[in-house]
Amino acid sequence: MNYWAIGQTGRVVYKYMNSLKPNDNIQTLSRKEQVTTLRLRTQHAPLNYHLNRINPQHPPLCPLCKDQFETTDHLLLHCFNLDDLRQNLLPPTPDITNILFSTTEQLKNTSKFYHMAHGRRANAHRLLD
Ligand SMILES: [Zn+2]
Repeated sequence: MNYWAIGQTGRVVYKYMNSLKPNDNIQTLSRKEQVTTLRLRTQHAPLNYHLNRINPQHPPLCPLCKDQFETTDHLLLHCFNLDDLRQNLLPPTPDITNILFSTTEQLKNTSKFYHMAHGRRANAHRLLD
């Protein structure tokens, strides 16, 4: 697993990981939740902005609001079409630390948020096709 070294954000994540490792609640999650949490921490979730960097033909925009890049931050923190899910599953003032480096319960909810958001964006894609 060599993804820590990629880009500036990757290095910031690496620093967090090191300092939190001894008590990192990621170890208490299911395998699926662990994979989701790691992908979100390292910005390697299969979202359009990341897919576009692998394949330039792939449009980088968010399928839900259509005028923002679909980055990890956009999906987790900013897309207004996910405000309802965010209210149910994320803290009142969500940021990367309190949703991805947090209690077991919050990490589980963050993982759930991601999978529900991902389902919603997949439907939006189908409508576009
Ligand atoms: Zn959006």
